Formats: sequence, structure tokens, C-alpha cells
Amino acid sequence: MSQQFQVKGTKSTYIIYDKVLGKGAYGVVLLAQDINFGNQLAAKIISKKSLSQIDIVNLRNEINIQSNLYHPNIVTMIDAFEDNEYLYMLLEYCNGGCLFTKIQLSGPLREDKAYKYFIQIVQAVQYLHQKNVLHRDIKLSNLLINQEDQIKLADFTWSTSLQMGYVAPQICGTLEYMPPEVIQNGFQNEKLDIWSLGIVLYEMLHNDFPQNGLIFIRNGISKECKSLMKQMLEVDTYKRPSTSEVLSSQWVKKFQRNNGLIVNTCRSLSGLTDKLGSPRKIPLLGSPLGSPLRTVIGSPFGSPITSPLNTSQQKCFGSKNVAKQILSTHKLS
Ligand code: AMP
Repeated sequence: MSQQFQVKGTKSTYIIYDKVLGKGAYGVVLLAQDINFGNQLAAKIISKKSLSQIDIVNLRNEINIQSNLYHPNIVTMIDAFEDNEYLYMLLEYCNGGCLFTKIQLSGPLREDKAYKYFIQIVQAVQYLHQKNVLHRDIKLSNLLINQEDQIKLADFTWSTSLQMGYVAPQICGTLEYMPPEVIQNGFQNEKLDIWSLGIVLYEMLHNDFPQNGLIFIRNGISKECKSLMKQMLEVDTYKRPSTSEVLSSQWVKKFQRNNGLIVNTCRSLSGLTDKLGSPRKIPLLGSPLGSPLRTVIGSPFGSPITSPLNTSQQKCFGSKNVAKQILSTHKLS
């Protein structure tokens, strides 16, 4: 068994194992276990030392948003706490890797398999939009898979809550999944997530991105699927469908008829787009980083939540040296 240490959170005590599940923009994700219930979890651990004040505010924002989300296709945040040195997020464990890796290994998915995943992703996003939350970084590597081959939307680092239907212009997310209005002037509404969903569907079916803005669709894809992809990758924000419209598209209906599946098609944000008015031109706020699949770090605006997390009960115990050793191995101390 790998090395381990224990950490006391606000809801339970957790064993953190020296087994890396992945690395994110801010920290490392290690395998963990709830000491009381025995269930496996994922522990995202971030050293506060290397973070700017704005990063900390951003991460607290992620925690505040994600800890209020309960949906079968969204990674549940079980606990979150911090001490002087680290932020800890204890998350539902997804042991099937992410969609990006899956498609790298399997190659492009068949339409029926892509549908099975896609419908879950859209339902997760519909739930977010109903709660006035934009994810802003939907991509294959943020779509995790659990033991039951169920999709779990993860990584809420760039998520934000709409204030009165509005979010301040900002460039954030991942370049390949960003709609033109965000790249051009940072304009944001819920339709930015729809564009990213269009790219996700395209990528699942092609194992590639549309090249030079051209939506070349391979042979064998149904006309209903082509039509849906084109609608989601519509340059005009206002013509792009909402999550509810995606869920009632001909493509979804076709598979529903075939599978006898019932899809939740409740209404999404009413009149949100109308309230926002037309996109405003603003200067670019951040420049995309080099790596194509890397999240673009723009300066966060809007009104992030700045209060610290629950710190009262949190402490590391077991062997302090083991904790230090494990965390320093992952460059966290
Ligand atoms: P993030 O910091 O959220 O971007 O996560 C970085 C990586 O850690 C992901 O790409 C996954 O490989 C892994 N990871 C994050 N959350 C989980 C989770 N809940 N279960 C399993 N692996 C995860």
C-alpha cells in the first residue's frame, strides 16, 4: 500500500494516499478515502504558497459554486477546507479517467456511443444554466467517467454565477473550445457553454477539432447530427440553441425513439440572452497560453466570493512527516 496521511475536514476525516489521479492548473489530485464510510474519494490539494491572491479568490469561488451542485452528471464536492498552507477539496471519485483519454485510446466514437455521453453532458449543463451558473471550460479532459461509465462534469475553476443575467466580459476557458464572441471581445452568456458542447460532440465523433473554423463532418454521420453540430457551432450567439433546444433536437429525438429513453427537457434560463443586449467590445483581457489544450488564464472579474473556507477543524495528523513528504513530492510544499 502506498504512503498515506490523514486530514480532518469539516464533515469527516480523510486518508490521503500517495497515488496521483491527475494534475490540474493549480495542484495535484490524489486518491483519498473517507475514514468513517470507507468510500474512495479524489482529493484536490493546492498549496496556497504559490498562489496569487486572485488565484485564491478564484479557487474559493470554484468551491462555493461546486459545493452547491447536486446532479448525477456533475462531480459532487464532498468537503472543502483549508489550513494555513493548503486548500483541500474532497470530490466524488471517478475511476474511469476522462473522455479525452478514452477517445485518444478508442479513436472517434460511433454516433450512438457519442449520444450516450453527450446527452448526460447536456443535462449537466442544463442544470447549471438553470442555476444561473456558467461552466466556461467544458472540454473532453473535464468530462470524467465513473465506474458505471457515467459522465461527470468536473473542474469548476472558471465557473461563474450570473448576476442579474449578466457576467462581466472576460477571456477564460480553453482556446479550442471558446466561441468567437469570447475570443473577440470577452462577451459571455450561457451560449458560450453551448459552443463548447458543439466542439465536444464534434471531437467525440472525429477525435479532432474543426480545422480553421471549417466544420468538415466525416462520412457516416447522420443528417440530424450534422444539423445539431452546425447549430451549436453557430457564430451568432443568439441563433445558437439553448440546452433545452439541444435536448429536443431531431438528433436527440431520433435516439430517444430508438432507445425508449426519457430526456429531461425542462426550460433553461428564460430570456437571459435578451436581457444581456448585444455583445460589447472590450480589449482583450488575457492572452492564451501556449499549449492548445491548456486552460487560458484571464484575470477573473465579476464578484468572486472572498471569504475563507472553514478552517476551524482542519488539521493534518497521523505522521506530519509523511504528509510533508507526500505533498513535497508533488511540489505542494
Ligand atoms: P483538475 O484540477 O480538476 O483539472 O483535475 C486534474 C486531473 O485530476 C483531471 O484531469 C483528472 O485526471 C484528475 N481528477 C480530477 N478530479 C477527479 C475525480 N473526481 N476523480 C478522479 N480523477 C480526478
